[in-house]
Amino acid sequence: MSLCEVCWAAEAEHECGMCRRRVCREHFKADAGICSICFENLCEVCGQRLAVDSCVVCGKLVCRRCSEDLQPGIRVCRECLSDIHDRVKRDASLRYLERMIEGSRGPPGRRQKYFK
Ligand SMILES: [Zn+2]
Ligand SMILES: [Zn+2]
Ligand SMILES: [Zn+2]
Ligand SMILES: [Zn+2]
Repeated sequence: MSLCEVCWAAEAEHECGMCRRRVCREHFKADAGICSICFENLCEVCGQRLAVDSCVVCGKLVCRRCSEDLQPGIRVCRECLSDIHDRVKRDASLRYLERMIEGSRGPPGRRQKYFK
């Protein structure tokens, strides 16, 4: 018998499909096939991969694929990036992000990255 790697109290009955932790029934999200730790850290955009950070605009947990690192520690999800101009109009405090994005458009080939 092995113990749940989340609570270390109950017997592990399932294996997380993401991190491979062995977990008890209570710490296994059967619908998603993953443990509660992974479940709480899932990207809120795609719901498929583990989040690496949260979007500085909307606060959603996002994975690497669903977000862009504008600068170290400044991560913005694709949803916010795609309508950043509207968001800046509503909230002027986000203007620095717009500037960062403009700045990162410098080298040719990256121009289309943030704006479709
Ligand atoms: Zn447990
Ligand atoms: Zn897991
Ligand atoms: Zn994602
Ligand atoms: Zn966002």
